[in-house]
Amino acid sequence: MKNLDVILGKENLDFEDIQQLLSLEEPEEIELLRRKAFEVKQENVGPKIYLRGLIEFSNYCINDCYYCGIRKSNSSVKRYWLDEDEVVECARYAINKGYGSIVLQSGERRDQRFIDFVCRTVERIKSETRSEKLPDGAGITLCVGEQSYSTYKRFFEAGAHRYLLRIETSNPELFAKIHPESVSFARRLECLYFLKDIGFQVGTGVMIGLPGQTIEDLARDILFFKEIDADMIGMGPYIVHKQTPMAEYEEYFRKNKYKIYLLSLKMIAVTRLALKDVNIASTTALQALYPFGREEGFRFGANVVMPLLTPGQYRREYVLYEGKPCIDEFTNDCGECLIRRITNLGMELGLNEWGDSLHFRKRKSEK
Ligand code: SF4
Repeated sequence: MKNLDVILGKENLDFEDIQQLLSLEEPEEIELLRRKAFEVKQENVGPKIYLRGLIEFSNYCINDCYYCGIRKSNSSVKRYWLDEDEVVECARYAINKGYGSIVLQSGERRDQRFIDFVCRTVERIKSETRSEKLPDGAGITLCVGEQSYSTYKRFFEAGAHRYLLRIETSNPELFAKIHPESVSFARRLECLYFLKDIGFQVGTGVMIGLPGQTIEDLARDILFFKEIDADMIGMGPYIVHKQTPMAEYEEYFRKNKYKIYLLSLKMIAVTRLALKDVNIASTTALQALYPFGREEGFRFGANVVMPLLTPGQYRREYVLYEGKPCIDEFTNDCGECLIRRITNLGMELGLNEWGDSLHFRKRKSEK
């Protein structure tokens, strides 16, 4: 292996460097990587951690992704759909708490009723969360899957300005193994380019530790983020859900749990080194593997967190993977607990700010 200091000192990491960093196993070497990633985060996006209140407004989905607990074929899930007032109320709560931004997430649907609902709700949240501190209302991120160009445009015009659409893996063959034929890699990619063209801040991400996934795949994932010029990254460990066709990997997952957890942290760190000024989320799935996993995510270079705001009675029905944390709590407990955890780390919170991706701003100003 090349000298670690040499790799960590490089301005631009190549494929081989990325692979080598993701392969680090010695605790002292991983600590060097972590420190460097944290330093790069501080230099490029500053010291603040930004909050996005996560509202999982519906678990209805037309897809059947093999890894997902709310896939349409899982008949054990009780389906729900929050009404407009409930979603707006959650958003108001988030903004009153100083979160600055919210994420509206649901299973995938493309029917007119769903699209109109999303547009109306976004418009209402924008107008009902305006204040002196946030004159343009809440920052809104949507995470409602693959849609047509015109639907994305409607969402954007309604007032959403960020969109998360995970590629899940940049390896088309692996993508095909974990999705039914109706979900295509090419279409997912096309949607990411639609979103960029329309003017969204675009986020993507992958699952880490999928059966059959290699370090080479993960290194290519990071290069993929660069290639599509992503503004935000949200990635996390793959965790088996028992009511899915991938339940057979439970034993594999149990045996590799710590390895997958560590690999997820290394992915955050190396993505920070490679992409520098993007927003990177420390995802809930990290906390599912280790009680302080989300805090570790910040120490490895993440700068965004999404406290769960879905009303307590629905949380048990939005479980994409086993062991999801915070599903027993009431709306306010989750964010307050996270804020306490972040301030206990001595980190600063970006309250009453959108906390937009600096990469996006630079990208725009260069045009
Ligand atoms: S991953 Fe998303 S699109 Fe796929 S089944 Fe789950 S909710 Fe639906």
